[in-house]
Parts: sequence; structure tokens; C-alpha cells
Amino acid sequence: MDTKTENPSKDGEIGHIHLISQMITEIGSIFSKLGFEIVDGPEIETEFYNFDALNVPADHPARDMWDTFWLKPKSAGKLLRTHTSPVQVRYMETHKPPFAIIAPGKVFRYEATDATHETQFFQAEGLMVGKDISLSNMKWMLSKFFMKFFGKQIEIRFRPSFFPFVEPGVEIDMSCFKCEGKGCNICKQTGWIEIMGAGMVHPKVLESAGINPREWQGFAFGVGIERLTMLRFGIDDVRLFYSGDLKFVNQF
Ligand SMILES: [Zn+2]
Repeated sequence: MDTKTENPSKDGEIGHIHLISQMITEIGSIFSKLGFEIVDGPEIETEFYNFDALNVPADHPARDMWDTFWLKPKSAGKLLRTHTSPVQVRYMETHKPPFAIIAPGKVFRYEATDATHETQFFQAEGLMVGKDISLSNMKWMLSKFFMKFFGKQIEIRFRPSFFPFVEPGVEIDMSCFKCEGKGCNICKQTGWIEIMGAGMVHPKVLESAGINPREWQGFAFGVGIERLTMLRFGIDDVRLFYSGDLKFVNQF
């Protein structure tokens, strides 16, 4: 029997899950297998959770690192979260360590868009707190993550950096998954790709969430989901994800 003529309603094309949503699921699933709990937080945040509790008080020059969309009136202290880090604080306030979480979610920046910047994008925040957690635990976890995500053995290196909510702070580079260190256009001939910011959670951040920094310590990292996806699939313009162009969307 020709089902097409029998039931024309079944003849339509059905859609599929957007590439970014697929990646969010995949990232969550990889970290779940490493023992991380997937958690969520609000996109409209308070100034307290987005900044103050993360060791960025109102008069701190580091606030300029994040161009912020404030809700009106600004005096109410509500904003669109500029990073997923507030989820760390909310989780730490309500849970006792040890724990490990991954928090993927939408973030917002009040800045001009171009091939590598969007006003709205996704991050995944990772946090692990315990008695003896160190940067080497993070290095191991992230190596496992990259190996699963890119399907290859990936080296990781740390460079000193500054973020107010970590001490010490590091910038993380991964060895180029394409040329394996020989140098190519993806890694700008260096063999390394700058991939995320991270560090050891600042004692003030732990304290602000009610966790004793003399007893507990942990690492935290924040990674751009579009950035990871662009690298993996060789996509050169972040704006393609949200352009609604079916020629792009249907490739994935
Ligand atoms: Zn390369």
C-alpha cells in the first residue's frame, strides 16, 4: 500500500534537534559519566549572584570585563547573567561538599556581534569542591572531557591568568586536535588552542556561599559551548547558529 497517498499528513519533513542543543546534551552526558551532576540556574540574575558573591564588588574594576544588560530600573539590581558562574554560588549555598557540578546555560553580553561574538551564547560552568581538590584534578577531568568530545587524545596546558573569583586563575590551552601540534590554520600555527578560563575557587567565593575555605577547596572552569562546537565542526562564524538558515542547520 502506498502510505503517501493513504495518509498525506505523514508526508511532511520533521525537524531535528539544533546542533547547540545536541552539544549541550553531549557535554552534560560526558561530565555525568565523570561524576558531575547537571544543574541549572536562572537567566535573570541579581547583581549579588552575578558579581558580589563572585568577589566582584560594585567598585571593582573587574566589573568592566563583562558588558552587562541591566533590567530597568538599574537600581533594582537585576540583570541578564553575563556568565554561568552564579550557578556555582547558588549550588554551594544549598549543598554540602564534596560535590561536582556542570551547569550549561545561556548567558548575555552587551557588546557588538561579529564572527566570534554574540550578545547571547551558551557556557558550561564546571565546579568540583572537596577536601583535597587541586588543579591537577581539573587537568585530568578536562583531558578526559576533551578526549570524548573531540575523539582524540588531547594535551592541556595552563597559563597564568586573572579572574576575580579564582586564585590562582589560569587560561587553558588544548593541543590542536587537527594538526596534533604541527601547526595549522585552526591553531594559528602554534599547535595550541586557547579554550577556557579556570582556576581554584577563591576563598572569598567559598565563604560567601557558606563553605569554610580552610576546610574545603575546589576548581572551577567556564567554557563557551559555541566555541567548542565551532572548533569541532570547523564552523567559522558564531552568528550562523542563530541565523535561522536551514542550509546551515540541516547539515547537523
Ligand atoms: Zn593545528
